Amino acid sequence: MLAYLPNEISPWQLIKSSSTLEGEILFTNMPRVITDKEVLNKTGSVWADLKFGYDNKGIPIIQGSIRANVYFTCQRCLQPMDTEISSKIALCLVYEDTNIDQYDKLLYEPIACNAIDNLFLWDLIEDELLLSFPIAPKHMQQSNCLSEKISSIRNLNNT
Ligand SMILES: [Zn+2]
Repeated sequence: MLAYLPNEISPWQLIKSSSTLEGEILFTNMPRVITDKEVLNKTGSVWADLKFGYDNKGIPIIQGSIRANVYFTCQRCLQPMDTEISSKIALCLVYEDTNIDQYDKLLYEPIACNAIDNLFLWDLIEDELLLSFPIAPKHMQQSNCLSEKISSIRNLNNT
């Protein structure tokens, strides 16, 4: 099933009903992605699946993953390249005045959210996506990288 994810959600309701949200968010709904000079495919989208519920300690959590294909400029050969980005999501909801366990902080990234608050999903997923961008994108397989092709041609010519 492919659907677009809504921006505004009521996380506590989704947690109480153990709901799942699955779908796409367009890059055009993510102002920081769309204005990022590194991102070449402005028409892309990110796919997310999110499960809401409580863990075995009763902590209210949102868990899942995101996936996107982002075109960056390869830092070695300066050609555009398709990079598959995937990242796990593990968040826990806390009231603004709650102090959560150090141990739980290792498992989940806490987000402040009071009982009546809504969460802005596009913004949240945008944060996760930006955090998973490579620092210096380069063709993973050297054979795909133009700079490698050029240097191997040079090597051939030299022999
Ligand atoms: Zn390259």
